[in-house]
Formats: sequence, C-alpha cells, structure tokens
Amino acid sequence: MMRTGTVIQSTGKWYKVASDDEIIDCRLPGKFRLHEANVTNPVAVGDKVDITIGSDDTGSITKIHPRENYIPRHAVRHKHTEQILVANVDRGWVVQSVRNPRIKTGFIDRFLVTCEAYEINAGIVFNKTDLAKQKDKALLDNLTELYRGLQYDVLHTSVFEPETIKSLEDKLARKMSVFIGQSGVGKTSIINAIDSELNLRVGEISKSTKKGKHTTTFARLLTLSNGGYIVDTPGIRELSVVNIEPYELSLYFPEMLEPREDCRFYNCTHSHEPGCGVIEAFENGDIHPERYQSYLSILEEIEE
Ligand code: GDP
Ligand code: ZN
Repeated sequence: MMRTGTVIQSTGKWYKVASDDEIIDCRLPGKFRLHEANVTNPVAVGDKVDITIGSDDTGSITKIHPRENYIPRHAVRHKHTEQILVANVDRGWVVQSVRNPRIKTGFIDRFLVTCEAYEINAGIVFNKTDLAKQKDKALLDNLTELYRGLQYDVLHTSVFEPETIKSLEDKLARKMSVFIGQSGVGKTSIINAIDSELNLRVGEISKSTKKGKHTTTFARLLTLSNGGYIVDTPGIRELSVVNIEPYELSLYFPEMLEPREDCRFYNCTHSHEPGCGVIEAFENGDIHPERYQSYLSILEEIEE
C-alpha cells in the first residue's frame, strides 16, 4: 500500500514518517543515498515522502518529493559537505532574549542571511520583555524599528504575558516553523507556553541530547495542537553561513541591494574598494551601523 507523509524524525537509519495521524517507522533503500554527493542526509526532517508499508508494518521510502526550500548547515565531520537541517520550512524564527542572555545582533543577522539565501521567510522573536529595564527598552525599540524596516516580522514575547505568546502562536498555526537561538533565550519555555501538552516531550528531547553525540545533529518535529509543526533543533546554537561567496553576501542584505548597483567593481565586497555604493550608503546613514558591522564580520568569516 502506498502512502504519503512527512518525515518528523531521522536517526540516520530509521525515519519516522507521519501520515494521516499515524507515525510509521521507515527505512530508506540504499539507492537514495548515492544521489547527492555533497549532502550527507538524503532525507531530512520536513521532507514529504511516498512510502510503502511492508508485512511487518514498517515502511520503505519510495520517493522524496521535491523540496520547496531547506535550511542547511555544515556537516559535522565534513566541512565541505552540507547537511539539511530541515526541509519545507514556512518560517524561520530567530529567538533572542532582552536579558540573560542579551540580544546579539550578529546572531540575528547570520540567521537572516541564511534565510535570504535559501528563500525562507524569517522573523525575530524578542523574548523576556518582562525583564526589560529602561535602556533595554530603548534598544528593543531601535532594533524592532530596524528589522521591521527591512520587512522582517518582529514579535515581543514574555512567557509571563499570555497575550504575547498567543500572538506568536497564531503565526505558527498550520505552518512548519523553526526556532533558532542560543541556549537560555527561552525557546523551550515558549514552546511549553504555547502547548503545555508538549511538556514531557520537550524534556525528553533535552535529556536525550545530553546523552548521545549522534542524536544532537538531528532535528525533530513537534506537533502543536493548532496544526503547526515546530522544529526542535537540539545542539544548534548558531547557523554558520554555508555556501555563500564573498561577492554575493550583500545580495542577502536587503538594504544593500540598491546601493550595490552603484559600485565601480562588479565583484566589489563593499569593505575597502573605492567607488563603493554600499560604503557610501553606510556613510550617509542609509545602512544601520550594526548591520554593516555584521556584514563585515560575516564577510571575514567566509573569506577564510
Ligand atoms: P532555551 O534554552 O532557549 O530552551 O531556554 P529555556 O526555555 O530553557 O529558558 C531559559 C531560562 O529563561 C529559564 O530559566 C526560563 O524560566 C527563563 N525564561 C524563559 N522565558 C522567559 C521569559 O519570558 N521571561 C523571563 N523572565 N524568563 C524566561
Ligand atoms: Zn561596493
């Protein structure tokens, strides 16, 4: 019998596939492993697949549907291959906290660059707003204005203010969403506040990631009662920028798209070149200093 489903967990050998309210353990026939040489996992969490069910009630994956998009990361042991963290993402959220730990704009911008390059809708959640003191509020307002000005969705949340959690929850309904953020910013707490029935399962995940070095690299999907999926990405603190060449980096900073048209050199990296439209826009105050700083820092990283 042939069925279609979504891969919700992958451990390398076995895949859990959700299909019509059932979860089926599936294997992947060897022929799929050879297809993409530079990718370490041929099937990723979020993939839509066709499966056939055998007499022992386990499945075999017969077809991987084309991906709408995916989030890449460097493979753990092989710098030059990429691993697909999750496929078919509707929205990537970078979660930051106002305090404990503080907001890191470099972290936000790295994530946004990846989302721009891989065509993923991105949003920002500033959590722990209940902890904001006067000067934190000023920073929060500035950053909110900056990122909204760049057309990113920005939400303020506190797990102690249910209406703020509700507005985030509404954005997750019937969608596949990914949360990325350093440990301690409140990702688990937010997920629990949205759907308290997930409580146990979230705890389970963090326990298992401490144990096994293998489990840490695999994402898994949590199903919300509002029909949304959240991708839990244990062990993912930061996405390093993957497969982006120095001269194309500015394509993924929306505010640089127009200024870069004025650069004298077609392969300008907007760091030191004469006649650079981006540097001029920065000097005129049309590009935010924090963003230009992030740009230079990512550039340096990928030029290595
Ligand atoms: P994660 O590592 O991103 O999953 O973060 P956790 O959910 O484990 O939260 C880290 C700490 O921050 C815990 O002590 C939480 O109780 C606390 N925390 C989470 N959200 C909030 C919030 O909105 N306000 C405050 N004051 N503390 C929070
Ligand atoms: Zn330039």
